[in-house]
Amino acid sequence: MGADLTMACTSDLSGLVRGKGFATADLDARIAGGIGWTPTNAQITCFDGIAASPYGALGDLVLWPDPATRADCDLPEGRALSFLMGDIRELDGTPWECCTRSILKTALERFTEASGLEIRATFEHEFMLPQDRLSRGFSLQGFAGAQPFAEALLRALAGAKITPDSFLREYGPDQFEITLPPAPALRAADEAVMLREITRATAVAMGLQASFTPLAGSEVVGNGVHIHISLWTRDGRPATHDPDAQDGLSKAASGFIAGLLRHLNAASALTAPSAISGLRLVPHRWSAAFNNLGAQDREAAVRICPLSAGDPEKRARQFNFEFRAADAAASPYLALAALVMAGTIGIRDELQAPKATEEDLSLLSEDALGKRGLQRIPASLTDALDALSEDRSFADSFPGRFVEIYTAHKLGEWAHVADMTDDQRFAEYRSTY
Ligand code: GLU
Ligand code: MG
Repeated sequence: MGADLTMACTSDLSGLVRGKGFATADLDARIAGGIGWTPTNAQITCFDGIAASPYGALGDLVLWPDPATRADCDLPEGRALSFLMGDIRELDGTPWECCTRSILKTALERFTEASGLEIRATFEHEFMLPQDRLSRGFSLQGFAGAQPFAEALLRALAGAKITPDSFLREYGPDQFEITLPPAPALRAADEAVMLREITRATAVAMGLQASFTPLAGSEVVGNGVHIHISLWTRDGRPATHDPDAQDGLSKAASGFIAGLLRHLNAASALTAPSAISGLRLVPHRWSAAFNNLGAQDREAAVRICPLSAGDPEKRARQFNFEFRAADAAASPYLALAALVMAGTIGIRDELQAPKATEEDLSLLSEDALGKRGLQRIPASLTDALDALSEDRSFADSFPGRFVEIYTAHKLGEWAHVADMTDDQRFAEYRSTY
């Protein structure tokens, strides 16, 4: 099982996984001693340019692989992929300001301090895998055509102890979806990171190319990353549902969602952070277009998911809400951290979620939307970055100079595509993610 070489990895500001490899035989020593890392690596964009860096050529860090994330995956054609995710720390052991996994860990600790609760999450991923023959959305034919890939993927994921909840032939051309079962938040984000890498690597081993790009073309359905969240007491009791409260939301869930909606514009710079992400976040793409909570609405930014269980205890355990304004250009650690930070502010400030919307918001006038505090999610990366820098209470949740450095990173990415047509941008992102 696994490969002779193993890579210690970080999911970085670009949402790509980068790291360094070593002989698998040395794994224990590397877990004990870490791997050297360079601060300016944070500014390597998804297009491999280097954005403005405050670190220059200076400084040293250590990437500490976490054995809990060990993936030893057997791939098709006798190939293998072995890697671990890790935390990046300063030489003195303190978390580094640009380590996305450490940022999520801190966000989760603060959430628990503020609420006494814990978070379980799950990520649904849509992606495109070109097929050699035409197949239709949700069809058995499409599913069967992808079966050799899907089964190879299942075997590879087993090497990372990941068991998907479902695999389906989604609606868009060559589009598939893979969902994972709920897990404690850090593990859920680890699995989301590993899932993307293992999916891409399985495809490559079969001579295919899988892409999680947010949008493959202006006429094509987008690839969303939907993040499901539920709240739990520390002794494992469900804390998201209150059947007697508005929209069935417990006080904590209502506060969390209200914080999420209030800080959504700023958070979108971290959850849907590419130059094409905003093109997906428009009405009638079944993604998310407004800062709304919706029930049974697949265009809501936050959607209350349906319950199928009859028994009250089972309903409480099943109850969860889904954030839809995310995509795979975001590191899962940063996307989930952004949601948790916004939600924590909502709980701390005792905010209350608005009543869930029940209509097509694109039909309402500006005036009607304004009266209900509804607005469009930023349409461009630069608008989202402006919202991030203006939303001080949200931005201040991040460590050190993170927001400044992240903004410079994203502006570097933007510069690469600024003079391109949309079609050229779609192609650039498709081959990157
Ligand atoms: N493809 C849609 C998106 O971009 C999601 C469709 C669905 O699964 O509801 O988010
Ligand atoms: Mg879907």
